[in-house]
Amino acid sequence: MSDLDALFEAARAVREKAYAPYSNFLVGAALRTPDGTIFTGCNVENASYPVSVCAEGGAVGALIAAGYRQIAEAVVVGDAALCTPCGMCRQRLKEFGTEHLVVHVADLSGIRRSFTMDELLPAAFELEDKKD
Ligand SMILES: [Zn+2]
Repeated sequence: MSDLDALFEAARAVREKAYAPYSNFLVGAALRTPDGTIFTGCNVENASYPVSVCAEGGAVGALIAAGYRQIAEAVVVGDAALCTPCGMCRQRLKEFGTEHLVVHVADLSGIRRSFTMDELLPAAFELEDKKD
């Protein structure tokens, strides 16, 4: 199994744990750090809709909590033709993405498209003096 296949399988597996009783739209995200460590997250909805957390948000939180600060590659899996990260998650991924971060968008059978961060979030907001 290739590294990308493993990342896809991790995202697909965590998607099954999503809590999405309101939308019934389950999403899984898997992030790979430059050293190959994988972190995952799934969407967690709430009766108060704005409290809901995206899959990417959960995965980024896990990565940061483990002491990592960089994302080299990401896979987002949803049962849709093109389950791209929402605007907030594009900004989240940009914050921690390496210069060459690629975000792969997948349905349940496999990866459908791959994007650079510049394609997902052109002219992104960044603080030049970002502290890490
Ligand atoms: Zn999102």
